[in-house]
Amino acid sequence: MNLILLGPPGAGKGTQAKRLEERYGLRQISTGDMLRAEVRSGSEIGRKAKAIMERGELVPDAIIIAMLAERVSAPDVAKGFILDGFPRTVPQAEALDAVLKEKSMPLDHVIELQVDDAALVERISGRFTCAKCGEGYHDRFKQPQQPGVCDVCGSTEFTRRADDKAETVAARLEAYHRQTAPLLPYYASQGVLRVVDGMAPMEEVARQIEAILGPTPGRG
Ligand code: ADP
Ligand code: ADP
Ligand code: ZN
Repeated sequence: MNLILLGPPGAGKGTQAKRLEERYGLRQISTGDMLRAEVRSGSEIGRKAKAIMERGELVPDAIIIAMLAERVSAPDVAKGFILDGFPRTVPQAEALDAVLKEKSMPLDHVIELQVDDAALVERISGRFTCAKCGEGYHDRFKQPQQPGVCDVCGSTEFTRRADDKAETVAARLEAYHRQTAPLLPYYASQGVLRVVDGMAPMEEVARQIEAILGPTPGRG
């Protein structure tokens, strides 16, 4: 099963993708995570992407499409993948269609997480992540059970993204509405778009997504 989680920055795509990885045995493919790894490694792609990401703009389609095409060809995604943060433009969606067609891979569902802009600003500005295992947290909505200690791996180091600040969030939301929202009618016309209330608590959002996907493998 291959899915796209579509929604604005901070909508909860990463949170839900991680959960689906565990429950359904799918692979999360996050172009944002891939780009941040390129920036950390100081690669040519990373050097090109860094300033663009810090401004909250989109990295050029050609770079992203090449990265994604390579990633979906890797053997570990053969059981299915969840695209998180890709596609973000109509040319990216068209390129994805071409890659999937060439590989005879289906696109089963495109799930839109709908969240108001005001809620997104609060979600993004409160977001932090375990520096060791990458588990996601939130100042208000998901604190570690023991303050300052990661629930998953016990690490006491956390990071915040350079682009998760109020000034950049406005640019990112603008990019979403102008460049990414046109994907909604694109996928609706393909008959694969499903809408979920992303304003609901995390558990409820997960329940709505699972209702669309059907029973988890091996659990009936
Ligand atoms: P995205 O990958 O779409 O940018 P994240 O999954 O990183 O979004 O979520 C953004 C922030 O909001 C994180 O700090 C996360 O813990 C929190 N969050 C995610 N889903 C919800 C929800 N349904 N309700 C409240 N907070 C949420
Ligand atoms: P969020 O879901 O919070 O917006 P991501 O981690 O998906 O964040 O993306 C962070 C940044 O990486 C984006 O603001 C953009 O600059 C870049 N980026 C990630 N995915 C893409 C993409 N598919 N196309 C263009 N730029 C991208
Ligand atoms: Zn951790």
